[in-house]
Amino acid sequence: MIYDLIIIGGGPAGITAGIYAARKKIKTLLITKDWGGQVTKAIEIENWPGIKKISGMDLMKQMTEHLKNFEIEIKEHKEIIDLDKNGDNFIVNDGEEKYEAKTVIIATGKIPRSLNIPGEDQFKGKGVSICSTCDAPMFKDKDVAVIGGGNAGFGVAQDMVKYAHKVYVLEFFEEMKGDPITKEKLAQSGIVEFITNVAVKEIKGTKFVESLVYEDRKNGKNTEINVGGVFISVGMSAKVGFAEKWVELNNIGEIVIDKDNNTKTPGLFAAGDITDIKYEQIVIACGEGAKAVLAATDYLKTK
Ligand SMILES: Cc1cc2nc3c(=O)[nH]c(=O)nc-3n(C[C@H](O)[C@H](O)[C@H](O)COP(=O)(O)OP(=O)(O)OC[C@H]3O[C@@H](n4cnc5c(N)ncnc54)[C@H](O)[C@@H]3O)c2cc1C
Repeated sequence: MIYDLIIIGGGPAGITAGIYAARKKIKTLLITKDWGGQVTKAIEIENWPGIKKISGMDLMKQMTEHLKNFEIEIKEHKEIIDLDKNGDNFIVNDGEEKYEAKTVIIATGKIPRSLNIPGEDQFKGKGVSICSTCDAPMFKDKDVAVIGGGNAGFGVAQDMVKYAHKVYVLEFFEEMKGDPITKEKLAQSGIVEFITNVAVKEIKGTKFVESLVYEDRKNGKNTEINVGGVFISVGMSAKVGFAEKWVELNNIGEIVIDKDNNTKTPGLFAAGDITDIKYEQIVIACGEGAKAVLAATDYLKTK
């Protein structure tokens, strides 16, 4: 079986691509590790047009159900480990099976970045977390630290103010990067302390996290704060090792695309956060997924 299109990824970009491909009636296979991608980690989405407020999990459930309403072949819980070529066609490999297609859309998004500091790995699941949606209730009445003062870190802090006794938000740069309106809401809770211009050096504890050490980047002085939990929210990184041969990457590992979602290899497209498109938002990833299918459909007409 040779597919017209294989879509890799089941986040907003991949799901939208799937919906568009199904409506174009091109023979499509969508392969994904999980459903919903990063959005499932978002507490509340307030910028999806048409819905005033919805949890990330619920929004992605609705998108996935929408996709599954169409006739489209899906392989879930599969991770693509290699992408190769056979003449003009692509061979996509999930480690167990290989699939062939005339075009491929890579929509594999991003995954959380690590700090690479002592204690981070040791206390994972023992006080160190990357997912407040999953773990927040475990930190009821505790003091916790959120590392990262961008919108994602603010999202974690918003979740934690519902449970924690105190929430520290630590930011590497001189100013918090998240939206001022969210910062204001957090400040109003009365339990959030913002600490800027610091580098977190170590997470300490015995069985469970007990404290965190940070360095003031201005004077080099170390401070230790007692916390029972540490949420790491320092951005995301792109991982496209499986396709590296066929795409150009920018200096932060994102796939370089043109305005029609073409990569450097004809027939190979990319969409969403995995690409060098500047803004990383659900509505943008969806738009990019749609564009990639339209471009792939045009490409198929030339074959
Ligand atoms: C905590 C948080 C809160 C956010 N809040 C908002 C918000 O309020 N509003 C907003 O607009 N945006 C928000 N965002 C950003 C938004 O989630 C992303 O821009 C969007 O999810 C990008 O979609 P994507 O499909 O490109 O990638 P992702 O969402 O990362 O999805 C990638 C998909 O690819 C799959 N995948 C990855 N590698 C492979 C592989 N090798 N093989 C098979 N499948 C694979 C993954 O399992 C996943 O399903 C938030 C992000 C985070 C982390």
